[in-house]
Amino acid sequence: MDIRIDPWDYKIIQEYDKLFTVFGIQSIDSIPYKDLLKHHFFTRRIVFGHRDFDKWLNALRRGDKVIVLTGFMPSGVPHLGTAMVFEELKFFQEIGASVKIVIADAEAYAVRREDRGSTIKHGIEFIKHAIAWGIDPNKSEFYFQTAMKESYYRLIQMFSRKVTAAEMEAIYGDLTPAKIMAALTQVADILHPQLEEFGGYKHVLVPVGVDQDPHLRFARDIADRFSEELGFERPSSTYHKLLRGLDGNKMSKSRPDYAIFLNDDENVVRKKVMMALTGGRATAEEQRRLGGEPWKCMIHELYVYFMLNDEDVRKITEECVTGRILCGECKRIAVELLVGKLKEHKKKYEEVERTFNIEKIVKIPAF
Ligand code: SF4
Repeated sequence: MDIRIDPWDYKIIQEYDKLFTVFGIQSIDSIPYKDLLKHHFFTRRIVFGHRDFDKWLNALRRGDKVIVLTGFMPSGVPHLGTAMVFEELKFFQEIGASVKIVIADAEAYAVRREDRGSTIKHGIEFIKHAIAWGIDPNKSEFYFQTAMKESYYRLIQMFSRKVTAAEMEAIYGDLTPAKIMAALTQVADILHPQLEEFGGYKHVLVPVGVDQDPHLRFARDIADRFSEELGFERPSSTYHKLLRGLDGNKMSKSRPDYAIFLNDDENVVRKKVMMALTGGRATAEEQRRLGGEPWKCMIHELYVYFMLNDEDVRKITEECVTGRILCGECKRIAVELLVGKLKEHKKKYEEVERTFNIEKIVKIPAF
């Protein structure tokens, strides 16, 4: 099995437990504060790992300054994989944190080769989707990388002095100048909120998909190297499992037929769900006799991640493994639930478009 984590690739990571031993990610089970972590992402182990999350929670409980920071690549429309981060940010706001959201337009231009105008357009759309999903703009700060002030860019130059190409290759694999710049820029994103001119020290938590862990390892190493010069402390992080696309690989914008986008309409959702990979058997007779295999099924994954409460997950799983429900009917239920969820989101998105002046909450970069 390929265990290297590549933040720019879309391969799915199959064996999450190995990440504890290979990369030193800690299990979410080691975290106290079960009273705080009641969201189903935690109770169902969708958020499965962390680095120093307990320290961040201690700081939150003490009433120290804490923030949650994460970034989005402004290309295309967000899909359900991206919405997992929206969901986490919403949860962290509910337990008392404010959030800082990076629109990674510099990275989208350099690494994804997005046209400059579209990175800005998509960045604005991402912010609207985030607010429509339930992120409270009054407890949020959004920024575009290319609209940041000089001191943020000075950090990137400073960081470059204390890293080597060999160590970056060990973390990221093959590198290009664009990837080196993108990685250093991400470290500036993660660490700059601790500086005096950005509001003074606060404990930073970065909730991400586990494919982004290389950036966290790199940021933590650099924090150590600049602890005396700039007073940096290591950031904390949490890791969620990657939502798979409807074909079983990671959900990705680069394979749109297998991803559910937040603006997909009913017909598109139906078509995509109907061709999804399931854990169904070759024939109806076999499935009634042997039951389905929900752990292989992308529809079941959607239920667990986004659509059903604990009791309903238990019921559908039982009906599947005992062969009482067949995939056709199960998919029809999934379409109905998914379409309902997306319609509700669309309504809120339109309301944000109508009522919100985005330029009041984020500095739009010049072309
Ligand atoms: S019955 Fe539903 S959960 Fe079971 S394999 Fe088929 S689609 Fe998946």
